[in-house]
Amino acid sequence: MASGRVHAWVSFFGAFAIGIAWGKLTGDWGGAGVAFLGCWPSGVVLTPDLDTAEQKTIEAERIGGRVWQGYWWPYSKLVKHRAAFSHAPILGTAGRLFYLALPVLVASWLTGNWGWWATLPDWIRQGVWSAVIGLSFSDIMHWLFDGCPL
Ligand SMILES: [Zn+2]
Repeated sequence: MASGRVHAWVSFFGAFAIGIAWGKLTGDWGGAGVAFLGCWPSGVVLTPDLDTAEQKTIEAERIGGRVWQGYWWPYSKLVKHRAAFSHAPILGTAGRLFYLALPVLVASWLTGNWGWWATLPDWIRQGVWSAVIGLSFSDIMHWLFDGCPL
């Protein structure tokens, strides 16, 4: 099991890999930059280790502070550390993004306004997907460096 610091460095170097690969494959260097940022620092702040109750040990706590730590406290109590829901590639990423988006989802539900996503400019919607790909790449590396727990 890698430490939070090792995971952070892996995300940092991985961000260059995903950014360069994205740019070379698509020619979209703006999207490549967003994928880079999705992998690092987002991969550090939205680490799969948000599932641990011992959040003082994680890199995200140092960056995000007590508000971020408090937001994720219920998640850390609900999700078992290194469980598939938090650490599995794709599923873990989707689970944390769902938890992160809960306030927006609740607000959409309360107001009955689910169409706000379609009203956003294309570059924002495309940027979100680029960031999600970068974050997914960071999470896959996190999972590998944790020894592929499931
Ligand atoms: Zn982990």
